Amino acid sequence: MDLLIVGSGFFGLTIAERAAASGRKVVVIDRRPHIGGNAYSEDEPETGIEVHRYGAHLFHTSNPTVWKYVNRFTTFTDYVHRVYTNHRGVVFPLPINLGTINQFFQAAYTPDQARALVHELAGEFDAKDAANLEEKGIALIGRPLYEAFIRDYTAKQWQTSPTELPAEIISRLPVRYTYDNRYFNDTWEGLPTDGYTAWIERMADHSNIEVKLDVDFFDDSQPLNKAAAVGQLPVVYTGPVDRYFDYAEGALSWRTIDLEQEVLPVGDFQGTSVMNYADADIPYTRIHEFRHFHPERADRYPTDSTVIMREFSRFATHEDEPYYPVNTPEDRNGLLAYRELGKGEKDVYFGGRLGTYQYLDMHMAIGSALSMWNNQLA
Ligand code: FAD
Ligand code: UDP
Repeated sequence: MDLLIVGSGFFGLTIAERAAASGRKVVVIDRRPHIGGNAYSEDEPETGIEVHRYGAHLFHTSNPTVWKYVNRFTTFTDYVHRVYTNHRGVVFPLPINLGTINQFFQAAYTPDQARALVHELAGEFDAKDAANLEEKGIALIGRPLYEAFIRDYTAKQWQTSPTELPAEIISRLPVRYTYDNRYFNDTWEGLPTDGYTAWIERMADHSNIEVKLDVDFFDDSQPLNKAAAVGQLPVVYTGPVDRYFDYAEGALSWRTIDLEQEVLPVGDFQGTSVMNYADADIPYTRIHEFRHFHPERADRYPTDSTVIMREFSRFATHEDEPYYPVNTPEDRNGLLAYRELGKGEKDVYFGGRLGTYQYLDMHMAIGSALSMWNNQLA
């Protein structure tokens, strides 16, 4: 074995695939019973509808290297992601665009009029100087829209004051002064034609790659544990960085989500794939309806039943799956301390969303794995 990879998400599998293609023998371990990390999907048995087990995953990228690479393993449908939000019982389009603004103010503003209004409503806040999510949100869309669509949703999603959250969280969402309501700005987007799991399995399908499931790196009773492996061969670690060091510099804060799945006896529950719930009195952040991710499968999917998932967000304990790094100023200090510790680990490479404590989308995880392979490991 030339390389041990801890974690079979997109980061770990990209490294495994590159290493195997260059003739190296790789073992990938994962503590879960399946490969693919958070992008894993499976067909719901009663309906046959593909469900993303860890929350809806939409692929999008503007990186030509990543786009070319992923197309070696799957084709993509022409799905274009659009999200709506329910505020006080009325549905508005997201991301905030001219349609949202005009519906909210019951007006017919032109782009310039809407810009001028938002500028006026943003008052003292300027997007360039925004120090946190609240300042950035108000600067981008003005206080009334911020309070309607961002404040309470963000409170449910993060349970952290928006003044403590980094401005980048909200910069993920475009604000547009047109009626364009595509959720993403990227050059390419779509869903894997045969599903995520088929894509993921193709990445791991190489005689130089051995995948071992239900194996925890920190379980000393299994032979590929931390004490046995580190220092003996190169290790790519994609689990939580604070866990690797046994929380020596304190626990970094993470959000986890609870997903409540339900099969309903209706052909169409909400008419779209994702409906956000902006208000504080609804405990979940959004409802996913999976059939709408694949309109091209209409002839395969049942017409009298559908699968929905309600998403609830809360702080992660050490027993939960860590999903979103919260990234408060305290967390950022902790991360710097872990990075210093990481430098002292011989031949251990920290990568991926958990290993670097970053809010990485799939294309970013794949892109950074390709860079790590080319620049450090190859
Ligand atoms: P992961 O997929 O988390 O894989 C890490 C793996 O390491 C896991 O399988 C885990 O079991 C394993 N592991 C951890 N610790 C150990 C251990 N001690 N021993 C053995 N194995 C271990 N990205 C998008 O591009 N579009 C989206 O729409 C999108 N939606 C998302 C929605 C949610 C709710 C979440 C949480 C993420 C979303 N993402 C989305 C991000 C996407 O999931 C990540 O970019 C991608 O999964 C990153 O891959 P990774 O390999 O870094 O991590
Ligand atoms: N957000 C919001 N209202 C919405 C949608 C998003 O306030 O209706 C904010 C919220 O803080 C969220 C961030 O924008 O965490 C990023 O949203 P995105 O949909 O990209 O989140 P993800 O899909 O990663 O959970």
